[in-house]
Amino acid sequence: MKKRPVYSIVVPMYNEEASIQALYDRLVAVMDSTGEPWEFVMVDDGSADRTADLIKDYAEQDQRVRPVLLARNFGHQIAVTAGLDHAHGNAVVIIDADLQDPPEVILDLIEKWKEGYEVVYAQRAARAGESRFKLWTAGLFYRLINRITTMKIPLDTGDFRLLDRKVVDVLNQMREKHRFLRGMSVWVGFKQAGVKYERAARYAGKTHYTFSKMVKLATTAITGFSFFPLQVATYLGFTAAGVSLIAIPVIVVMRLLGNHEFLGQASTLLATLFLGGVQLIFLGILGEYIGRIYDEVRDRPLYILREGPED
Ligand code: UDP
Ligand code: MG
Repeated sequence: MKKRPVYSIVVPMYNEEASIQALYDRLVAVMDSTGEPWEFVMVDDGSADRTADLIKDYAEQDQRVRPVLLARNFGHQIAVTAGLDHAHGNAVVIIDADLQDPPEVILDLIEKWKEGYEVVYAQRAARAGESRFKLWTAGLFYRLINRITTMKIPLDTGDFRLLDRKVVDVLNQMREKHRFLRGMSVWVGFKQAGVKYERAARYAGKTHYTFSKMVKLATTAITGFSFFPLQVATYLGFTAAGVSLIAIPVIVVMRLLGNHEFLGQASTLLATLFLGGVQLIFLGILGEYIGRIYDEVRDRPLYILREGPED
């Protein structure tokens, strides 16, 4: 194996042909200014455009570029995982391809790393070009996850972060199929610190995180780190049983006292519908967990490489 570079920059790319040149230029300028050896792990997540070809061109011209080409689109979290698997650096930086995370911030991350922090996450102070709805749902999500899990995921962080080699080695051993990397990198512990930055608007193209993908990622985060949704069924069950325990004698007594109009058909129907609905919801939640168990048991590879770097 080649000598380890000090830094690896891991970039997942899905249909990013319009951003890649600007990204390359800015990253090279920033990383060369460190004066230390570094490598650029470009992951193509099964793009339909020319991204994969461009990556191969860069790899030919520039020895520091390590091309990791996936056989199809596996999604952002898996693409980053593939990049982490192929990164050699003592510090590994994960950054988006669309220049929403300004490469210049990497220097701040590195500075913290040199102070001895092992996970340095970039924390958004402001976000340009994002809809109100996205900001609101993101805020709600982080509050929820911090309430129901034992970890504290810092607010307003994405996957833009620096990980020390020790942390990357641990993450690379955690082969769970449904991955929420920003949660996993908090879960591992180590010394963590944040750096504030202003998130820019996308350089070109549009987001690949549709609403349904965001819901999927949120579900992965919750089921991956908490049993709370399962436990809610127990709480609700006890509440419903408690209410009936009180209601039953009350109704019996009222009936005995001659009140025959107390319970109508409508209230019977409502109670049945309500409980039926609640039961179906919890069947669905059980299904989410069971599906994930099935994925783990089946144990397919996390991703398939079409082409990887030579070493
Ligand atoms: N991405 C990927 N695979 C996907 C979707 C996205 O590798 O299936 C990459 C994308 O190229 C970008 C990063 O993940 O570098 C973040 O995606 P995007 O900018 O669309 O998300 P947003 O910033 O809007 O949350
Ligand atoms: Mg983006």
